[in-house]
Amino acid sequence: MSRLERLRGRLDEEGLDALIVARAVNIRYLTGFSGVFDSGFAGYLAVSAETATLITDFRYEQQLTACAADSPILIESTSGEYVEALATIVAGPGLARTAIEDTVSVTTKKSVDKACGRSLATAAGIVESLRVCKEEPEIAAIARAAAAADDAFKHAVELVRVGASTRTIALEIEWHMRTHGATATAFELIVAAGKRSSMPHAVTQEQTIEAGDFVTIDIGAVVDDYCSDMTRTVIAGEASAEHRRIYEAVLDAQRSALGGLRPGMSGREADAVARGSLTERGFGDEFGHGLGHGVGLEVHERPRLARTSDDVLRTGMVVTIEPGVYVPGFGGVRIEDLVVVEDEGARNFTATPKELLVV
Ligand code: ZN
Ligand code: ZN
Repeated sequence: MSRLERLRGRLDEEGLDALIVARAVNIRYLTGFSGVFDSGFAGYLAVSAETATLITDFRYEQQLTACAADSPILIESTSGEYVEALATIVAGPGLARTAIEDTVSVTTKKSVDKACGRSLATAAGIVESLRVCKEEPEIAAIARAAAAADDAFKHAVELVRVGASTRTIALEIEWHMRTHGATATAFELIVAAGKRSSMPHAVTQEQTIEAGDFVTIDIGAVVDDYCSDMTRTVIAGEASAEHRRIYEAVLDAQRSALGGLRPGMSGREADAVARGSLTERGFGDEFGHGLGHGVGLEVHERPRLARTSDDVLRTGMVVTIEPGVYVPGFGGVRIEDLVVVEDEGARNFTATPKELLVV
C-alpha cells in the first residue's frame, strides 16, 4: 500500500475527511520526493480521500513539478498567501472534518482559521505513526548513512590523541562524511573530552585533549534524506581502573540491551535491560537518559526506549541503543549503535568496534 493510502486509512479511523500536513519532514515522507525540502520550505500538503495537493511557491515550483510528474500529487504554486490557497481547498465539498497538524505555530493556526472562516481541528502524530516502521528502501538508506558515520569515525579516530583539538576532530569527521556521500551531518557532531564528556549533549567546544580524558564522539550522517546516529568513547593517554570499570559497565549494558531486543517488547522493557545491568554495577543513578530513540528522516523520532515509554517495538523499526554513565567532574562514557528490529532481534548497522580503546 502506498504511503498516501496508508494515511487515508488512518484518516478514516480518526474520523477525518482531510489532513493538512504542515511538517516538511512529513511532506517529504508522504510524497517520497527526495532532496527538495530544505529548512526554508513552508508549504502544506492537503490530503483527502480523493486528492493530495501540495501548496508551494515559486521557489520550489520547478523542482516539485518535476518530482510530481509520475505521482498522484498535485502541485499548486501560490504567488500570494499560503493560507488563502489552503482555505480554498478546505472550503471544498465533503471536507467538513479537516484537521491540521498540531505542530504549526499559534500564529499560523490563527491565520489559517481566519482564512478558512472556522477553527480547524488539530491532529497529532498521525504521519509520524506511519513513519515508525521502515520500508526496505528506507532501511537501505539508513544503512548507507550508518556506513558513512563508521567510515568517518575510522578516519578521525587516528587523530584522537593527547594534545589534539576536539573541534578539529569534529570538523574532520564532518568533512569526511560530506566528501563521502553524505549531504549533511544528522546533528551538530559532538566531540567532548574530559569533564565535558559527562554532559550527554555537550556542545563541541575548542578543547585540547588531555591524558586521562574520556573522549566521547557522537556522530551521524544524512544520506538520501535519512539519518544515522552512533557514539564511541575512547580514552586518551592511559586508562585507570576507574576508567575501565565505567567503560566495561556501559559496554556490558549495551551488549545486554542489544542481545535482549525483540519485537513485541515495550520501550520501557528494552530500557530496563540496560538499566538493570548498570544498576547491578552501581551506576544506575549515573544513567540519566533513556536507552534510545527511533531514527529515520529525523535523527530523533519515535519510538522512544525509555523508563516512561509505552511504545511497542515492531519489526522494521530503526532505533539506537545508547546507554551511558556520566560522572560529573570526571567524565562520561556512552556507546551507541543503530539497529533495525527484526523478527529474531536486533540487526546492527554500526560496524565500528567497541572494545575499550586507549589512544
Ligand atoms: Zn548519538
Ligand atoms: Zn542517539
